[in-house]
Amino acid sequence: MAYVTVREAEETYSVAGWADGYYRITGAGTLAVMPQGADGPEVDLHEVIESLREQGVATPITLRFPQVLQHRVDRLNRAFEKALKDNKCKGIDYRGVFPIKVNQRQEVVKTLAQAGRKWKYGLEVGSKAELLAAISMDPNRKSLLVVNGYKDKAFLEAACHATHFKDEVIIVLDEVGELDILAPLLQQAERKPILGISLKLRSKAPGKWALSGGERSKFGLTIPEVLYAVERLREDGLLDRLQQIHFHIGSQISDIRRITQGVREAARIYVEMRKMGVPLKYVDVGGGMAVDYDGSGSTGSNSANYSMEEYASSIVAQLKDVCDEAGVPMPHLINESGRAVVSHHALLVVDVVRRVPYLEIEPDPDGAHDDDPTSLWNLFDTYRTIGPKNVFESFHDAIQYREDLQSLFDLGHLNLEALGRAEAVFRAILGKVRDTLKDEDETESEEFEQANALGSQKLVCNFSLFQSLPDVWGVKQQFPILPLHRLREKPEEATTLADITCDSDGEIRRFIDPEGSRASLQTHKIRKGEPYYLAMALVGAYQDSLGDYHNLFGETNEAWIEVGATGKWSVTRLTPGSKIADMLKWVRYNPADMKDSLKDRIKRLKDTGKISAGTARELVDEFVGLIDRSTYLEPATA
Ligand SMILES: *Cc1c(COP(=O)(O)O)cnc(C)c1O
Repeated sequence: MAYVTVREAEETYSVAGWADGYYRITGAGTLAVMPQGADGPEVDLHEVIESLREQGVATPITLRFPQVLQHRVDRLNRAFEKALKDNKCKGIDYRGVFPIKVNQRQEVVKTLAQAGRKWKYGLEVGSKAELLAAISMDPNRKSLLVVNGYKDKAFLEAACHATHFKDEVIIVLDEVGELDILAPLLQQAERKPILGISLKLRSKAPGKWALSGGERSKFGLTIPEVLYAVERLREDGLLDRLQQIHFHIGSQISDIRRITQGVREAARIYVEMRKMGVPLKYVDVGGGMAVDYDGSGSTGSNSANYSMEEYASSIVAQLKDVCDEAGVPMPHLINESGRAVVSHHALLVVDVVRRVPYLEIEPDPDGAHDDDPTSLWNLFDTYRTIGPKNVFESFHDAIQYREDLQSLFDLGHLNLEALGRAEAVFRAILGKVRDTLKDEDETESEEFEQANALGSQKLVCNFSLFQSLPDVWGVKQQFPILPLHRLREKPEEATTLADITCDSDGEIRRFIDPEGSRASLQTHKIRKGEPYYLAMALVGAYQDSLGDYHNLFGETNEAWIEVGATGKWSVTRLTPGSKIADMLKWVRYNPADMKDSLKDRIKRLKDTGKISAGTARELVDEFVGLIDRSTYLEPATA
């Protein structure tokens, strides 16, 4: 077996690029997390999974690291604090809010609110349900509550009354029509919220989330609408409430220049509105800070060409520049980073349940048979003669012979046994093509990509893409994926990953690569009787609430891992995944009734003599017991 250094392993999976200081590969070839950042203690994640398995907690498991959340909140707030200081913005505050749609889990929101207490870090909501969640999870009066999205009367009333719990509540107008309901509410209100205006900027970000920004964006007021709203509030005697402007040009904005462009446009609107006498106090620069999922540090859609610190300093510098130029005082700054705050805290571990193809067949050592067609003779010939000098040509020939043989089979001129032998030689040729192109340093060639894709195995993994990585399916996003262990062994298999749903879209076929993306993941040979685990990292943003219940696969088991001062780790929270009963209830079955009716039917089978009493007992145990089990595959060793 060939071995690699830790550094080589980290390069293969671009770890240093995407880990942002929270993950690394250990000398033992396992993946480790450093929940308190690169200087803090590390936890061997393979050890965690083995230990959970011994306690009967099976994969798929979502591991969450609350200390990573705390660290991100601190880092974000420090980055803006420093940027304000570096730019000599005396007396100007940074007021971060977490947009809870990015991860509404009670424990996550609570952890963020607690970590953010010393920073007056608040929450942003976009619905009535989120408003209630935010009020109950963040009791700090001093942090902001920002209310966005389309609102009805009940939502606006509740948002106004939230001022009883909070010093400052900001209601952001997403459409002018909201003023019809809001103006009378504000005139009567005892404690008044701040009003904000969401701007429809011309600036937009390219990529998968492009339509969140620019003229055609879903939200926000155009300039004439902004001017109308200002006049209307002036007439209603409410202009003093208009203290914030807001924009959000998209998520995962990988190019820092797009962000500063948006900030400049909003800052110009800010200074002009100030000159018109609008008492603006806050500029809210929205979310959009990107996460470097592929670790390439580029403007590619799965990457980011800036750090959190660069993000903060670019925004502050741009805002300061525009304000100084106009001689208008700087506003306080609100920011709604979501993805960048929570992505790193969660990691999914799945076990491989099967390898496809199951068998690796050696080509027939005797070559073609006398009565085989010429194409099959040619295929064997190609296999024997392929080498560095003719590899491209031979590969193209082999593809043609294989096509010819398939046609012969379709027409009834080739039998199944011969077709099987043809496929076996063809697969062996693919192996030779890949090895030769690798030796010749031709891995950039189209042929290499094609041979890899044709020859790759599938590993079937115990998870549902639709539940756990919905953005791979929905927006073709890429997440870092790598083996959890055996990372010092050279990974020699080219693999795609299939999930256990029966949907043909439930497969991961693109993987991160520093040079762009690749069609296969490098994995190790599966050993019989030994589990093989893959880690899917940076899944803490959006995946939890966008995930669905395709095939009725439910939530995975979940473990919260924390590390103490001595560097010892512990499981501080264990949440079992969905049971089959939970999923049935979700689609409006009644599991209790189902159990009763199953028992009745089994009893009738027994009473009418169709089955024995013993079989009846077994059937009851089996079917009734199944309802309370996990929706995922269970370990074969049980
Ligand atoms: C979704 C959303 C965010 C979060 O965006 P990220 O790209 O996750 O930082 C911020 N603000 C608003 C208004 C949003 O809708």
